[in-house]
Amino acid sequence: MTDSGIATRAVIVSARGAARWQAGHPWIYRTDIYDEPGDAPGIVSVTERRGRHLGQALYSPASEIRLRLLTHGREPIDAAWWGERVSAAAARRAGIAATAYRVVHAEGDGLPSLVIDRYGPYVVAQLLSAGLERVREDVLEGITVALTPEAILLRNDAAIRRHEGLPLEVVAARGSVPDTVAVEEHGVRYLAAPHTGQKTGAFLDQRENRVLVGAHAGSGRALDLFTYHGSFALHLARRARDVLAVDSSADALARGRENAALNGFANITWQEANAFDLLRELEAREEAFDTVVLDPPAFAKSKQSVPRALGGYKEINLRAMRLLSAGGVLFTCSCSYHVSRAVFFDMLADAARDSGRRLQLLAVVGASGDHPELVNVPETGYLKGALLRAVD
Ligand code: SAH
Repeated sequence: MTDSGIATRAVIVSARGAARWQAGHPWIYRTDIYDEPGDAPGIVSVTERRGRHLGQALYSPASEIRLRLLTHGREPIDAAWWGERVSAAAARRAGIAATAYRVVHAEGDGLPSLVIDRYGPYVVAQLLSAGLERVREDVLEGITVALTPEAILLRNDAAIRRHEGLPLEVVAARGSVPDTVAVEEHGVRYLAAPHTGQKTGAFLDQRENRVLVGAHAGSGRALDLFTYHGSFALHLARRARDVLAVDSSADALARGRENAALNGFANITWQEANAFDLLRELEAREEAFDTVVLDPPAFAKSKQSVPRALGGYKEINLRAMRLLSAGGVLFTCSCSYHVSRAVFFDMLADAARDSGRRLQLLAVVGASGDHPELVNVPETGYLKGALLRAVD
């Protein structure tokens, strides 16, 4: 069932809840709710106890995050409203030199719990809250008007939907998105897999970092660990003599091989291995690389697992630093939300000390600009990385 965009129900929040919106954070938690309809999710109007209007929000009665701010105004939140917001977000992406990129990054673009990625003429979106799911038709209509895609696929299989009491499903919402879509990314071509690939089919958040690393790659040997379908390896292969691309997933590597062929690259070796084991072996054999990329999955899935995760991060970073040839470059990152930027850089400093190498910090990076982080909403940031050069 879907609602129209007119908020007919009201939620009353505490002064602390109101203060969060005032401070630019779009979420109000269960503990800051005074009165709520409690029945169905959807769009609600929000007031403080004396009745002052605070705005309109997506309401999720089963979630700890009860309210997500859409607007401080009273305007109808209909298909036209979604269309305008999506158009504005798309306008902020003008000039991106790739055919696949994020058009709407949820909270970061003022559209909480809504992710919209473009893959050429197709759109792959995620509706990540119960309130948003309820207005699905208006959102789809808005996307259609704003982006005129050939088809829209909903990758509503992200685990966080469980917190909202929503099913995990992949839904063809408009037309049919093909199994693979060829993407052009700053001169490199790769195949994304919208139905089955990670996230919405590719790791779009690393796009700018891949270009950065490509521009710093040396002409000798390169190592891309946790390569997935080879996105970094492809950018490295343009400059490096040989690239060793490593992943534990045979399926991902199979797509990597296809991607290499698509670009006519014959200088990438695809190896199925555990990166931890392989790093140990490479170090024991005293191998050296001009360029190393470390893009592991999130080692810390919860706060409690941070200490153990840091041990893992330090191990791979220390070994990678030791593998660098003189003048070699290391790109390293973490997408663990629970590992803050400060903690990540402390770990890197620690690894650098133990490595005995002198490492220059060439760049401190986050996710690409199409995945904007809000400075006052820490929950919108997760990816941090560094580009380092071993001086000698
Ligand atoms: N660099 C990629 C994204 C990497 S995602 C890009 O830019 O597109 C992380 C990858 O690490 C996944 O493909 C996963 O299969 C792989 N992986 C997870 N654990 C691993 C391990 N221990 N050794 C090697 N690969 C691993």
